Amino acid sequence: MADDFLARLREFVGVQGPTHTARHPITTTAISDWCDAIGDKNPVYVDDEAAAKSRHGGIVAPAATLDIWDRPGLPAQARFRPKGEPAGEDPRSKVLRGLEDAGFVGVVAVNSELEITRYLRPGDLLANTQVLEDVSDEKQTALGVGHFVTTRQRYETVEGEHVGDLLFRILKFKPGTGTAAAAASEPQAAADPSPELRPRPSINRDNAFLFEGYRKNELRIPRCAACAHLFFPPQPRCANCGSFDVGYVVASGTVAVYSHVTVHYPQVRGFAYPLSVVIVELAEGVRMVSNLVGVPADDVHIGLPVEVEWLDAGDVTLPQFRPATPVRRTDTLRLADVEVGATLPPWVLPVTPTHIVAGALATRDFQDVHHDRDLAVKKGSRDIFFNINTSIGYMERYVTDWTGPDVAVSALRVRLGAPSYPNSYLTFRGSVQSVDADTGRVVVAVQATNELGPHITGTVELELPQ
Ligand code: ZN
Repeated sequence: MADDFLARLREFVGVQGPTHTARHPITTTAISDWCDAIGDKNPVYVDDEAAAKSRHGGIVAPAATLDIWDRPGLPAQARFRPKGEPAGEDPRSKVLRGLEDAGFVGVVAVNSELEITRYLRPGDLLANTQVLEDVSDEKQTALGVGHFVTTRQRYETVEGEHVGDLLFRILKFKPGTGTAAAAASEPQAAADPSPELRPRPSINRDNAFLFEGYRKNELRIPRCAACAHLFFPPQPRCANCGSFDVGYVVASGTVAVYSHVTVHYPQVRGFAYPLSVVIVELAEGVRMVSNLVGVPADDVHIGLPVEVEWLDAGDVTLPQFRPATPVRRTDTLRLADVEVGATLPPWVLPVTPTHIVAGALATRDFQDVHHDRDLAVKKGSRDIFFNINTSIGYMERYVTDWTGPDVAVSALRVRLGAPSYPNSYLTFRGSVQSVDADTGRVVVAVQATNELGPHITGTVELELPQ
């Protein structure tokens, strides 16, 4: 019986669906919206002059956008439908319907492997043809018993030029049958970490300017108006010359960890544990006590460059710190500059609802779980979460910010893990996995993790100048 069921589904394996053509050609406006959403400042995507001088010879679309252009848009969202296909006549839709009728109603993306044959350009009109590659045996997974469904999509321009391929794998599962169903997947905080529960600072005439600055997102350093001595925390008079005439300067924002400790107990309401307490040193020379967020205690070290972020704690705003965003390289690494095992600086991305919604819409993905919290919760999710294209977009940005702009990405391959929800930190780490001196091809392994575990694990394959 079960064998018959699977045999029926597998009749579609190897079947090619109808070719689907995008509704509109690629535009510079849509590319630039994607860059805004992902925060990618690579000029080859938006700046005619810089792009003309690059290996691409003109503006191109990021490699991660290969599979977004032929999406059917908002009108197709009434029900689940594979991207780009009219009302479910392709082989994957037929298989998904069969699985849903048998109770496998849950769905989650598992793998996405993009291979780029040539970069897309404004004006390209894409067509995509899908082949159902595999329907797995029934598997017991953490989410539930289910089947992995794998499709391969071939992308061409309407003129017939092959531009890339996508291997996409999803798991269709029976909700509530998972090995992880009983265990809570999220760590339980012992104390409520809501920041408005923190003890209130005592604000007086000598330090009020500091908290006014915090409200305006300014890190202010007390400065003696008489002798220019800088100090911290605020005091009524200058310890250097004794003057009562105290003003302030606004810090430049260049900050590094001076010392650190991890607090596990006792736990105080308003803080998340383990709690990283740091003394940071500002470039101006003063030090202050604060918290470091977005990075596990093991990764904190003296000298770690950090940047301020502002915590809304109810009636006060407070500074805390996270590892500094790596600086985007404006020239391009050469092959000789790169060796196997080299590590990329970590990048901590604070994930907000805006990042999630902007990413979903800029990748033309209108599925409700990426923009509507109520519907996401109704479908068993804690909140809205990143769509896979946004995560891959950030992965491409992370690596190309490190290499510099003038590279050619040839593949982006990821396995998806824990979802990325708002109000959490997603930390990207990377290392060079291989370097091919003959072809100039470099593979960078990337993992992005949050408090639930690895979110994406994958590789970016690209070509560097020789
Ligand atoms: Zn002084």
